[in-house]
Formats: sequence, structure tokens, C-alpha cells
Amino acid sequence: MIEQQAALYIVATPIGNLLDMSMRAVDVLKSVSLIAAEDTRHSAVLLQHFGITTKMVSYHDFASTRSAEKLLEKVRSGLSVALISDAGTPLISDPGYKLVNLARQEDLKVVPIPGACAITAAISVAGLPSDKFIFEGFLPNKMAARQAQLRSVLLETRTLIFYESPHRIIASLEDFNTVFGGQRKLFIAREISKKFETLTLKSLEECLKFVSADANQQRGEFVLILEGADKDGVVDSKHNEALAMVGLLLEDLSMKRAVAVAAKITGAKKNKLYEEVLARHKSSS
Ligand code: SAM
Repeated sequence: MIEQQAALYIVATPIGNLLDMSMRAVDVLKSVSLIAAEDTRHSAVLLQHFGITTKMVSYHDFASTRSAEKLLEKVRSGLSVALISDAGTPLISDPGYKLVNLARQEDLKVVPIPGACAITAAISVAGLPSDKFIFEGFLPNKMAARQAQLRSVLLETRTLIFYESPHRIIASLEDFNTVFGGQRKLFIAREISKKFETLTLKSLEECLKFVSADANQQRGEFVLILEGADKDGVVDSKHNEALAMVGLLLEDLSMKRAVAVAAKITGAKKNKLYEEVLARHKSSS
């Protein structure tokens, strides 16, 4: 076992299959002075499985800053502390941000111990563009807020990744269909690395039918990966939005100014917009 340097170690643990625990993660957890865990009872099972006997305390971002400070005092005094969450990589929709942020402010050493994360596991097998993607985390609970959140990314051309829980999966799939239409592709990664792992890429319409038809498909943990908006469609939609805006702005501004303002607000192409507004003006006069 390697003697650990005084540092805060952010240690990834498995998201299902215990064989995904890295040897380095076991080594670090065995040799640190203290493990801060999201749920000590939950993590006790993991630690026992790997013969790790290090003392554990519970840690949550919503606890007082004092509990983060107490952990960091240990690092400052020359000890090593590891942070783990219930599953996967801490800080990814899990506690730890406050702790790491404070550690950085205090210039303490923070070391990642990489491993499982549902985002990277799912995107690596989705078959959707993975060169650029955005992670939206969990959607809001209430339908109106959820649809509003989805509408805010309607024109996003990068691949979009969401986390979802079993009690909201159908409602969310319905909202995806309402906001994006039925034809966009969605990859559903359910129960990754577990016994009932299901990985499926279908249109939103088909996804809703597939999950609704089978109660088993509504159980467990989900990553939803949505195909980004079609780039040409987005250009057209910005252009149309800008055209409508110019119509209103022309009541108070010159044509050049109205086009410049509308292009700036919508992100539409200024020259193309100007040409079209000019052509429309000529044909109507
Ligand atoms: N820190 C974790 C990570 O690195 O992925 C995520 C923790 S977050 C509280 C839990 C959510 O992650 C679940 O609701 C689900 O959306 C996703 N998730 C975690 N494990 C998963 C798995 N085995 N299969 C599919 N999704 C999973």
C-alpha cells in the first residue's frame, strides 16, 4: 500500500458492478486517515467488500461550512482525506462541490481518483455525437418547470445528457415528445453495469411507447441522451425569429439599425437578414 500525501482525494466508486472499482481507489481508501461519505451506511457495504477498514464520517454539501472546514483542517494538519459518494464520481450530481471549492480557495492539494461515471459510460455507447455534449443533470420535478427547462435547450445543437429517476421517467419522456417532437433520437441507458442493463437508441416517439409498454423498463436508474438540434434548422429558426423582430423594430428604427439589433439579439446572420428585409421592402413598395 502506498503512503498517501496530505491531500483531499475525490474517489470514484462503481455505479453498479463492483468489479468497476479501480485498484487505485481501493489503495487510496485503505491508506487515507479518513473517508468522508455521502451515506456511511450505504458505503459500509462497499468498504467491507474490499476489506477497507478506514474510519468513515458522513459529508453533505448542505451541512454547515464548518463540517467542510473540519475535514480540510485534517488535510492542513498533514493527513489525507478521501471523499466518496453513494455511486460513481463525487460532485457529479452528488455532494462535494462545496468541499472542493473551499479546498481550492485554501490552496490545498485535491487529487482525482478517476473511475465510473454514468455520463461517460452512457455517452461512450450511445452512438450519438460525442465530440461536444452538455450535461443538464436532473430535470425539475414539476411539469411546467420541466418543460420550460427543456424549451430553453430546444435550439442546442450539441448532444444533451440528462439524469432521470424511475418515478419521473414516463412524465419526462412525455415532455421530451411535447417539446422536441417525436422524431429526434434519444438514447436510454438504464441500469448501466447491472443485471437488467438496457441500452436503446430510438426516436422520442418510439422511446415513449417502448418504456410505457413495459413496467420493467420504468424501473432503476436512467441516463437519457438526446440528439442535438439540427444545425440547419437552428439557422432557419434564428433567421425567422429575427425577421419577425425586424417587423416590430421598423416602427421605431431605420432598416439598417433594426436588422443590426435583431441579428444581435437572435444570433441570426446579419447580411442574409438585411438582404431578405430589403427584398421584402422592395417587393411591397
Ligand atoms: N455520481 C454519479 C455518477 O458519477 O454518475 C451520479 C449520481 S446521481 C445522484 C444518480 C443518477 O445517476 C441516477 O438517478 C441516474 O440518473 C444516474 N445513474 C447512476 N448510476 C446509474 C446506472 N447504473 N445506470 C444508469 N444511470 C445511472
